[in-house]
Amino acid sequence: MSTVKLLLSCLLFKGVLALSGNFWHITDLHLDPSYKLTDNPEQVCNSSGNRPAAKAGIYGDYACDSPWQLINSSVYAMKDILPDPDFIVWTGDDTPHVPNEQLGEEKVLHIVRNITHIISHVFPNSKVYSALGNHDYHPKSQFPGGPDYMYDQIADMWQDWLDPESQITFKRGGYYTEKLLNRTGFRMLVLNTNLYYDQNKQTQDIDDPAGQFSWADQILTEAANNKEKVYIIGHVPPGFFEKKRSKPWFMSKFNEKYLELVQKHNSVILGQFFGHHHTDAFRMFYDSDDTPISTMFLSPGVTPWKTSLPGVVDGANNPGIRVFEYDTQTLLVKDVVTYYLNLTHANAAKERWEKEYRLTESFRVSDASPASMHQVLERMAKDRCYLQKYYEFNSVSYDLKECDSDCRVDHVCSAREVDFKKYDSCLKTEASASAIYGGLLPVLSVAVSLVLANR
Ligand SMILES: [Zn+2]
Ligand SMILES: [Zn+2]
Repeated sequence: MSTVKLLLSCLLFKGVLALSGNFWHITDLHLDPSYKLTDNPEQVCNSSGNRPAAKAGIYGDYACDSPWQLINSSVYAMKDILPDPDFIVWTGDDTPHVPNEQLGEEKVLHIVRNITHIISHVFPNSKVYSALGNHDYHPKSQFPGGPDYMYDQIADMWQDWLDPESQITFKRGGYYTEKLLNRTGFRMLVLNTNLYYDQNKQTQDIDDPAGQFSWADQILTEAANNKEKVYIIGHVPPGFFEKKRSKPWFMSKFNEKYLELVQKHNSVILGQFFGHHHTDAFRMFYDSDDTPISTMFLSPGVTPWKTSLPGVVDGANNPGIRVFEYDTQTLLVKDVVTYYLNLTHANAAKERWEKEYRLTESFRVSDASPASMHQVLERMAKDRCYLQKYYEFNSVSYDLKECDSDCRVDHVCSAREVDFKKYDSCLKTEASASAIYGGLLPVLSVAVSLVLANR
């Protein structure tokens, strides 16, 4: 090879490398400081709410929120797997699922401070974009739509991660925006969607709590004028929970407004990254012609805590952390790699964080663009094996039972429709499709085997 050719191929190689970046997304760490190993399974942790923590070990139990050992293990696993990410997205929920009486403003702040400290200690040179979770307030979920002691305290705690302008908006309502990695043309929007949570009594009667919608609309309008590309992060997502039929999180009026915001500005929004579910899922956004325009990735939680939400059966998960690979020039999400800790194995034998799956390999798509994620969704709806794989990843390989017809409808409709009315009609359409899927297929397969047997 001539020197010129060699030089050229080296430059091309460098160019290809430079185009690809990666970042961590962690969420829902939920530290339970009361966690302890004891002979009485009901006394292991306050977050179990008297459910027995039968398999308690040093890394935790599925009935409990995270012991410090698990939080520590997850942050150091990040350091082992990808020590130098472009940045870190952290979408909140730091405190345990316990009654408000067991917490208080100072206890909540103390826990947020501990987790802030370990992340900044292990990643001293990484930029962290940090959103508030509904559990990062006291009383839980009651974020006010205006200046407040907790916003002030946390803004000070996160001062190394916040520009001066971000400090101002954070103190006004827990939200902010910054240039992504200080690069012109790239932006991060950090929202406080706890203001839209239906459990929040402080914001029920307000049209635009803390002025966040009008602010976001203005930022996204300016982003379009300046030809910027934007990522949005937040905690509570719009749309429905896939593990409980017809269970939304946002108040209806705010769900509509959020959807409108994304539809209006979809050309500049290259990805949305949220938490709160503790499960691994995604949500599609479409334009009026049903073209996929945006995807919201819901990353799994670090806490393994089995949800106590009535109607959810065995809603625990293995602890998960996640790397997103993206194109540094376009911000297109190229791939998603999820790592997890098999909690049973970690307690019994050895702490081992391992790759659970890579999106493009496991779901056989070329990237994680809205068009590709739409393909994933449509294939889940039709292909039982494909759906089963998605279902097992949904709980981070904790719940391996069969995803039946009702389960299929719940997962497909929650991923497809963020809008309340469209979700309802999806339930109807897919239920009748399920009747064919669940009823006709076995009939057909019996018929085929009879034909074959008679040959
Ligand atoms: Zn949570
Ligand atoms: Zn939450």
